[in-house]
Amino acid sequence: MAATDYKFEGWLGMDASAAEGKMVWGEFEPKAWEETDVDIKITHCGVCGSDIHTLRSGWGPTSYPCCVGHEIVGNVVRVGSKAVGGLKIGDRVGVGAQSDSCQGRKGPDPCEACDSGNENLCQRMHVGTYNGVYMNGGKSYGGYATYNRAPSRFVVKIPEGIPSALAASMLCGGVTVYTPLKFHGCAPGKSVGVVGLGGLGHFAVMFAKALGADKVVVVSRASDKKEDALKMGADDFIATDEDKDWAKTHAGTLDLIIGTASSNRMPMTQYLNLLRFDGTFVQVGAPDDGLPSISAFPLIQKRLKLTGSLIGSPSDIRSMLQLAVEKNVRPWVTEIPMKDANQAILDLDAGKPRYRYTLVNEGCEDVQASSVKL
Ligand code: NAP
Ligand code: ZN
Repeated sequence: MAATDYKFEGWLGMDASAAEGKMVWGEFEPKAWEETDVDIKITHCGVCGSDIHTLRSGWGPTSYPCCVGHEIVGNVVRVGSKAVGGLKIGDRVGVGAQSDSCQGRKGPDPCEACDSGNENLCQRMHVGTYNGVYMNGGKSYGGYATYNRAPSRFVVKIPEGIPSALAASMLCGGVTVYTPLKFHGCAPGKSVGVVGLGGLGHFAVMFAKALGADKVVVVSRASDKKEDALKMGADDFIATDEDKDWAKTHAGTLDLIIGTASSNRMPMTQYLNLLRFDGTFVQVGAPDDGLPSISAFPLIQKRLKLTGSLIGSPSDIRSMLQLAVEKNVRPWVTEIPMKDANQAILDLDAGKPRYRYTLVNEGCEDVQASSVKL
């Protein structure tokens, strides 16, 4: 076992104003150590739309202080004697948006989800990498930080060939769209739509192509991201605020749509009309204020399926990383120093990233001077 005299410090949201760039740097108490755990010295952490929803208590009251960040990459510095996955000190690893599930430990019956490798769908216990509570009562703190402690089942090795800044962004943003694309049969012969070209949306374009989709169409509000979308591999682009005929022109052309919009101000009924009969719309974006009401007719008349999807399991993350290596999937990531995390949150809220930010830990010496101690 390595020395354990390191400090867990990070950017803490103390109340909803944190989402306005008011996180403060401070020390926090990780979950009490268990021998199934791993400690990670964080080198990189992606900035996800969910971080903002949580910082501002958009999905319900957040348990402050809260350190967000669930696209964590770093090096293992401590491994429990009962850790799984063959993890060793020094390994380059990642943790996505979930860091524990019931793992069959709750109740006398086995857990169907955990036993079948669908831990992300565990209905008994889903511990988010931040703002969650572990079975031993400890709080989960995310990756805008120096160190992370996570149950080993949710720690994945990062394959060589993917730089850490890119791998980080895939651990939530990538797998959240990869998993439903795969599950709903994205493959040669299919036409796929992507609503919203933000972090998740840009991954959806690249993974749909990597899975062999014939045609990928981006459905964005304005045309300013069109050139980028085509560079990412999209075949067509719809700007809903600018082309008044879009819903008619493109009606009935898609087999599968991945909806990533983070707000409910969206023309959902018209999106559904883009599907062929028996098509599927998968909502992954999670607006604070729910989804808009929709007409029943596209569902009825075309036998459509309207569904959702939550992140991905550790095995989904592994297979996504494998595909990313094989197909050389290169997300568009801007590296930002960890000390500028507040600005990163403001930029994401303003829709500025093109298309994902990854915070890089080059040390936070200059913010530690004004840190808080909990
Ligand atoms: P993001 O980078 O901010 O992208 C969100 C996109 O939504 C924007 O780029 C924008 O695309 C579109 N949008 C449509 N209407 C909007 C509006 N009124 N205001 C702002 N954006 C609007 O965020 P992200 O990291 O990709 O996350 C997207 C959503 O997925 C968030 O709600 C996040 O919490 C959720 N999420 C869900 C899961 C899951 O497991 N289901 C996992 C991670 C994240 P255009 O500009 O192209 O229109
Ligand atoms: Zn996320």
